[in-house]
Amino acid sequence: MQDFINNLPKLAKDKHNENKKFFDKLKKKTPKNLDYIMQELHEQEFERTDCLKCANCCKTTGPLFTDKDIERISKHFKLKPQQFISQYLRMDEENDYVLQNVPCAFLSADNYCSIYEVRPKACSEFPHTDRKKFQQISNLTLKNVAICPAAFNIVEEMKKLIK
Ligand code: SF4
Ligand code: SF4
Repeated sequence: MQDFINNLPKLAKDKHNENKKFFDKLKKKTPKNLDYIMQELHEQEFERTDCLKCANCCKTTGPLFTDKDIERISKHFKLKPQQFISQYLRMDEENDYVLQNVPCAFLSADNYCSIYEVRPKACSEFPHTDRKKFQQISNLTLKNVAICPAAFNIVEEMKKLIK
């Protein structure tokens, strides 16, 4: 698994043009049952892939924290939202709250998330491969295949299935 994760940026770079073409075509001609296909591919992939053996998303990138996320997580720590923000977050170029540092401060040594029950919505939905109208997030997916081995595999399977 670790070798695959280490090679992902290169593998994703090699596949970038092919993937981009595929998603451009998918947007123009979207199969009616795409939501169903994605649900199936997502479930099959995550039966094989154990996130606890990976945690690459938590180690190399971080989620956006919405106001609701901040409210919920601050409450969990019994902090005021502003205290939580100044301790853990910064504002990025697009005015979104993101982690100050990666790996994420809430990632434990055994790859468990120490705030799993209250983690940001973006963490619980990553890599978004089971979301509806998947073709609409192709730019994000083109980036995610360089981070997430499961997303990489799912896109490879999509290309085999959808001609
Ligand atoms: S979502 Fe992807 S990158 Fe994150 S831990 Fe699971 S397989 Fe790894
Ligand atoms: S909050 Fe939890 S799931 Fe989200 S990046 Fe941090 S450790 Fe990973």
